[in-house]
Amino acid sequence: MLTEARDPVVTYVTGRDQKMLIDGKFVASSTGNVMEVIDPSTGKQIAELPCASDKDVDAAVSAAEAARPAWEAMGVDGRSKCFAKFAELIDQNRERLAMLDAIDCGNPIQAMRADIDLCKPYLNGWPALAKSLTGDVIPASSGNLHYTAHRPYGVVGRITAFNHPAMFAITRPLPSLITGNTLVMKPSEETSLSTLALAELFSEAFPPGVVNIVTGKADTGDAIVTHPKVKRLAFTGSVGTGLVIQRRAAESGNVKHVSLELGGKNAMVVFPDVDLDAAVEGAIFGMSLNVCQGQACGSNSRVMVHSKIHDAFVSLMAEKLGKYRIGLAYDEQTDVGPLVSKAHWDRVMNYVESAVDQGAILVRGGHRPANAPNGGNFLEPALFAGVKPDMRIGREEIFGPVVSVFEWNDYDQMIVQANSVDLGLTASIWTNDLSIAHKTADALDAGYVWVNDSTRHYFGTPFGGTKNSALGREESKDELLTYLEHKVVHTRLGDPKLALDRVLGV
Ligand code: NAD
Repeated sequence: MLTEARDPVVTYVTGRDQKMLIDGKFVASSTGNVMEVIDPSTGKQIAELPCASDKDVDAAVSAAEAARPAWEAMGVDGRSKCFAKFAELIDQNRERLAMLDAIDCGNPIQAMRADIDLCKPYLNGWPALAKSLTGDVIPASSGNLHYTAHRPYGVVGRITAFNHPAMFAITRPLPSLITGNTLVMKPSEETSLSTLALAELFSEAFPPGVVNIVTGKADTGDAIVTHPKVKRLAFTGSVGTGLVIQRRAAESGNVKHVSLELGGKNAMVVFPDVDLDAAVEGAIFGMSLNVCQGQACGSNSRVMVHSKIHDAFVSLMAEKLGKYRIGLAYDEQTDVGPLVSKAHWDRVMNYVESAVDQGAILVRGGHRPANAPNGGNFLEPALFAGVKPDMRIGREEIFGPVVSVFEWNDYDQMIVQANSVDLGLTASIWTNDLSIAHKTADALDAGYVWVNDSTRHYFGTPFGGTKNSALGREESKDELLTYLEHKVVHTRLGDPKLALDRVLGV
């Protein structure tokens, strides 16, 4: 069912200046190049954004480099004050940021308000975690003092994906900033509006040059990746781009520390002892259907259901999926908005068609809803059964509202199938038997495993994947340490008795 909506584009976008933030100033691209912003709910162009050139990126990196010594000298306590101010400003701008993401990305407004609220534990958590960092005193040799200390890298380049625009722009830079680094950040060209709104808040809360925001496409990202003064790169996006970034970082001729948060093809394993209703709800929740139309790295896209409950599971899931309201992203009643772009809609549909061609059973959805508003990238959530591991939809990340159900009988074979893809971000296990749950958690090759839950991750627990899904972990002390160079200081103390004699003049 599609719903009516008012037009918030006029309130939040039309007529606003869209400028980048470089050295505390709001600037256009030096070349005058722009890219268009399309509302995915209507297909209409609603704004133009600057495309940063190499020269703009260089200015941003130089500003970040110049701002770094004073920022480092402020210490964790001084920097935490900026975090507190930033958190306050985010609270005040909650509705605007959430609306911009609904308008620009197509995610339902309710979910985007929740995204902004989810930033709080990160805004509070990083300063506390940074404050708790200590070095070590290591008894490496007798008569000497060996200790470790940390120093920031310098300028960090941060490039993000399209699917949680404001949440990424708020939370992802925080560990690099609290450790005394300065930043050049580029959001996805698909969804930059909320990051440019955040530029205003960053500039109010942080000293000039500490946070620089540039917008643009792959070439702007490449200028960050290859810049000789960017020592640390942090990337969230697809595996393909992640590999290019690793290669280009090496080709820059500078050794750079690169961390990558990439894709998922995540398995949800369902045992026959579950409460069917709860497991089906969990499967739909795990798709991140009513948060971002399944465009989520950690969402479950392969649901492996034991044959004893397989048929009942599939029919209940089809019934429940039919109740989700598809509509304009900024409509309060909408559960599922449009996909981010027409190109992405075509890509997802290509998977749907390939699945049908390869013999999977399309149980429901997988087409444009009959009464969808014109021009929007709407897609009725697709449920496939009879999926085999060698089908494209069984192996490749789709990043959309498409879920595949696999039927299994043999536990060992199911584990082999679950682990047969080259991604290993998340997994979830549904059973009432804890020993089976932990045995299976151990067997599944994934970086983050839920038991009787899915999707949620919590500040403090390392998030990331195995295989091609990631290089490094985020949201935890593990990540904080990756924004710091580690230094050992060795002091030769000599013979304490001779030293005492010398000092006392004996
Ligand atoms: P993408 O790889 O197409 O783009 C991501 C970013 O990289 C964008 O800002 C883009 O402009 C930039 N970029 C593209 N080419 C570049 C280049 N050559 N050099 C430098 N920068 C370049 O990804 P996307 O479509 O925005 O996002 C979807 C992907 O992100 C999915 O694979 C998803 O699983 C992944 N993702 C992962 C996580 C995670 O935490 N693991 C979170 C969200 C999304």
